[in-house]
Amino acid sequence: MGRIMAIDYGQKRVGFAVTDELQICAHALETVPVAQAFDFLKDYLNKEKVDVVVIGEAKQLDNTPSESCRCHHPAILSGATRYDQFKKQRTMILPIVLYGNPVLRKTAVEVDLKDEALKGFVNDLFDTMYHAEGVGLAAPQVGKSMRIFVVDSAPYKEIYPDHEPFKGAFINPTITDRFGEDVPFAEGCLSLPKINEDVIRKSDIHITYYDEKGEYHDCDINGILARIIQHEYDHLEGKVFTDNLSQIKKMVLKRQLNDIASGKVHPAYKTKK
Ligand SMILES: [Zn+2]
Repeated sequence: MGRIMAIDYGQKRVGFAVTDELQICAHALETVPVAQAFDFLKDYLNKEKVDVVVIGEAKQLDNTPSESCRCHHPAILSGATRYDQFKKQRTMILPIVLYGNPVLRKTAVEVDLKDEALKGFVNDLFDTMYHAEGVGLAAPQVGKSMRIFVVDSAPYKEIYPDHEPFKGAFINPTITDRFGEDVPFAEGCLSLPKINEDVIRKSDIHITYYDEKGEYHDCDINGILARIIQHEYDHLEGKVFTDNLSQIKKMVLKRQLNDIASGKVHPAYKTKK
């Protein structure tokens, strides 16, 4: 757990305090008039990372609710409700790491399905993928060497009217078989901006994985979804799609890849070298 913010509502003013990362010491930030409390909170959370917010409740010395709670309660309730709404609306766009970052070359590590932070992280992956207009995004692409990727194949519905769009997270996936035809298809990657090359992959896969609700799946997948999954799965194995190209193609792309690695390519989304 990281920083904790404590909010204490008084009748007229609201006090804010925050701990350091290790929760060794807390310091008071500010007291602000009750009416400005939510704006102060919103501004602060936009600038600083806080993992837990504790909202205080006025009590008497014998721990019974204070009479003055009647005055406090509307403020507490409105502050807490508005904070919840703010959290729900908040989208977390993570920077996408670019080719050249060593995390893209690591074999990602299995995830603990009981980790409570998992759900939030999967949401962040979706937010980041949609923001960058991708159809798939793997955890190593946001700097986390974890065996998770998310997929939303909806944009392919326009190209392939028969395609049944699929949206979901693949946690601890294993591709146990690849079969069917060899199919070429022009792939791109958010970590390798502005490069598109034909990659030959199998049309069908057999995969086992857990979804974002923790349910286990064991199934065959084909078509464009199998393509996206194989691309994302490569990221968990420390591979990028250009690794699958011929030596000649790789030579031709070398300069473009070096440009990405040296920070000369700037896509429209947030990135990290
Ligand atoms: Zn990719």
